[in-house]
Amino acid sequence: MKALVKREAARGIWMEQVPVPQPGPNEVLIKVEKTAICGTDLHIYLWDEWSQRTIRPGLVIGHEFVGRIAELGPGVSGYKVGQRVSAEGHIVCGHCRNCRGGRPHLCPHTVGIGVNRDGAFAEYIVMPASNLWPVPDPVPSELAAFFDPYGNAAHCALEFDVVGEDVLITGAGPIGIIAAGICKHIGARNVVVTDVNDYRLKLAADMGATRVVNVANQSLRDVMSDLHMEGFDVGLEMSGNPRAFNDMLECMYPGGRIAMLGIMPKGAGCDWERIIFKGLTVQGIYGRKMYETWYKMTQLVLSGFPLGKVLTHQLPIDEFQQGFDLMEQGRAGKVVLSWT
Ligand code: NAD
Ligand code: ZN
Repeated sequence: MKALVKREAARGIWMEQVPVPQPGPNEVLIKVEKTAICGTDLHIYLWDEWSQRTIRPGLVIGHEFVGRIAELGPGVSGYKVGQRVSAEGHIVCGHCRNCRGGRPHLCPHTVGIGVNRDGAFAEYIVMPASNLWPVPDPVPSELAAFFDPYGNAAHCALEFDVVGEDVLITGAGPIGIIAAGICKHIGARNVVVTDVNDYRLKLAADMGATRVVNVANQSLRDVMSDLHMEGFDVGLEMSGNPRAFNDMLECMYPGGRIAMLGIMPKGAGCDWERIIFKGLTVQGIYGRKMYETWYKMTQLVLSGFPLGKVLTHQLPIDEFQQGFDLMEQGRAGKVVLSWT
């Protein structure tokens, strides 16, 4: 089968022929229909310091996908061949304190597809049946393809009560854009989104953000006074940029709550006094809640949340290079690649 493989310890990604994987007990084989490119895939493509530490060359990359079940492994019940599914890409151990305590998204033995084991940028992928997410008929495949990052956005946006609240989102990457839409959809008051990329800020505005702020040439403080605000009640950090996080700490209302998804560089500092004297809550967010987040995000789409507004490009898989180029240039929301 065709697959996008990280063949060499260098910048790039290679389309190769690899064997079709075989489903073992309690696993299913899925014929991949559509995949989406994540920021993580771009890191692996660029071969940054994190990828060099984490990825073994020869790996099939990719973790955002939708497809149809092609074969059931021994012991699988409750699923049918031909059924359309996406899947949770974090495979957990099922035995540890967190798994057994109902917090599997915090399993310390998590294995990520397309990072720690072969991923979804291929004609077929094998997944544990317990990770499957059946896709309801009204949800189009090009949206189901990126439920994984949609789930990061939903997990973060739903961590604190945003109904009637003023929300600051730092970072208008695909996840920040989707989070802005969710907050507005469920009834936040003002949703202000910052970035340094006007193309992405426009997508956030189209998604319903009250105001978008290019912090390279606009002041967040000015926007707050325009909106007659003293501070934000809820912050969603979605840039991974220490400056953005410090801007957020400065602009939070005392007692505010911050959900932190963006991955900061090692050793990044912050103004601790603002956290302490304002009594802020800072909650780290990892992955998606299994499977609470999946239920909620599916229902949000079925209730009219316009997830499709973040989807800017759909390409056949043979044009994958163009997809990675668009991602690298920051001139894309979600890029979906079609395998069929
Ligand atoms: P992305 O890299 O596409 O988006 C980040 C955005 O932040 C970019 O648009 C960038 O221009 C913007 N930015 C840079 N400097 C800024 C500043 N000073 N102020 C405001 N914005 C600024 O990333 P994404 O795919 O949307 O993911 C968002 C973040 O979440 C990333 O850091 C990613 O690594 C992280 N992430 C975490 C998890 C998790 O489980 N915790 C999962 C997925 C992604
Ligand atoms: Zn576990």
